Amino acid sequence: MYVCVIGTGYVGLTTGAVFADLGNDVVCVDKAAAKIERLRQGIMPIYEPGLEEMVKRNVEEGRLTFSTDTAAGVKRSDVVFIAVGTPPAKDGSTDLSQVESAATEIAHALDKYKIVVNKSTVPVGTGDFVRRVIEKNKKSAVEFDVVSNPEFLREGSAIADSFHPDRIVIGAPRQNVAMALLELYAPLERPMLITDVFSAELIKYASNAFLATKISFINSIADICERVGADVSLVAKGMGADARIGKEFLQAGLGYGGSCFPKDTLSLIHTAKALGEKIDILEAVVATNDVRTNRFVARILEACEGGVGGKRVGVLGLAFKPNTDDMRDAKSVEVIKALHAEGAKIIAYDPISTENAKPMLPPDVEYASSSYEVARDADVVIIMTEWNEFKLLNLEKIQAMMSNPVLFDGRNIYALDRMDRLGFDYYSIGRRTIRGRGRVATTAQAGTDGRAVT
Ligand code: NAD
Repeated sequence: MYVCVIGTGYVGLTTGAVFADLGNDVVCVDKAAAKIERLRQGIMPIYEPGLEEMVKRNVEEGRLTFSTDTAAGVKRSDVVFIAVGTPPAKDGSTDLSQVESAATEIAHALDKYKIVVNKSTVPVGTGDFVRRVIEKNKKSAVEFDVVSNPEFLREGSAIADSFHPDRIVIGAPRQNVAMALLELYAPLERPMLITDVFSAELIKYASNAFLATKISFINSIADICERVGADVSLVAKGMGADARIGKEFLQAGLGYGGSCFPKDTLSLIHTAKALGEKIDILEAVVATNDVRTNRFVARILEACEGGVGGKRVGVLGLAFKPNTDDMRDAKSVEVIKALHAEGAKIIAYDPISTENAKPMLPPDVEYASSSYEVARDADVVIIMTEWNEFKLLNLEKIQAMMSNPVLFDGRNIYALDRMDRLGFDYYSIGRRTIRGRGRVATTAQAGTDGRAVT
């Protein structure tokens, strides 16, 4: 099939590469000329494991091309995907201007029947909006259909998610329109759900809102755990073992961030209000999430005698989650800004996202090239992203390099008994606090490689 994907970001580029890999002839279009130029040179605009190899293979085999020419891309294609951004507007609603301009460009190029597929996350009713925009702007009496095919991939595992989605949702106006999409996805051999357009649009928001609810719920339980000395990871394990609940999205932490959950929860609240409804539960989910980082920062300030003014605070992890370079709504930005405002001297390290983070952080933040460099002479080290390499750190070495072995873990990546044994002051989320400071100084001394010898 000839496929055009408009918008070559996390979703568009992955979708284009996967459809090409399935044997289709795909053109990925973007208005950002520099991005397209770099893609033509084989340089990926985003970090996504496995993407570069897949793009390269499909470009070499002639199934995947990149262009800024939307009209040409649309004209050659049977199916046109819209995968542009849908950022939040100030009032929490969804800014549909990118969708509108993509639809207008499709209309101008429409020369024969095509299926236009909304893959961007859009409020219920946007399929109708896209239909109206195309009707109004098309140059000839050509037929078209608008389908909703929401995307559920997760950054960091986008390729695997695209090849093995739990379900593929196709919201189509008629059965025969859905069949064309069914054919496109058939090689994946994954469950497909055919619905009307409204339901498909709502499935995406309801799913993200539900996952956000699980996160805010477990974080509220974590607060209770902290009060009584219970362990939220054990509570979550016990809950998750119940098949009706499931273990996913029950990791307590600093709250949800990233490019989807914050905007999608707000958008659904806004949609409900516009329809005369109020989703109290979702408003509570957002309010719970909004105070997570404040609470974390307050704990840091309380633990550091005399505050963090003039203290060296190391930050491990900047990306909103591991295996991505995406900094949109990353919790690290909130925490770093708050500590910086209190006078902390920040030194940060992230394996991938440092360049994306720099414009979002105060100019005097220092960037290290390794975790160990972050730890050197630090008064406090904070874990903001659960990158695998942080889980595998030589903690004895980290401890020996720090001025004070005080570690705040916003992602619960270390076992409490280990931190206890090592003698850190270790603060995590929803688990008892370990206070080991001082103990280690009498039982350990730094070896020549910085490793503490006990
Ligand atoms: P992105 O910002 O990474 O990419 C969007 C791209 O669209 C940009 O490169 C931009 O230049 C391009 N664009 C905008 N208007 C255009 C136009 N008129 N013509 C051509 N190109 C245009 O966004 P993303 O993260 O890929 O998200 C895209 C959509 O998918 C959003 O609605 C998002 O909510 C949804 N989504 C994202 C994820 C995710 O994990 N990122 C997952 C599921 C769904």
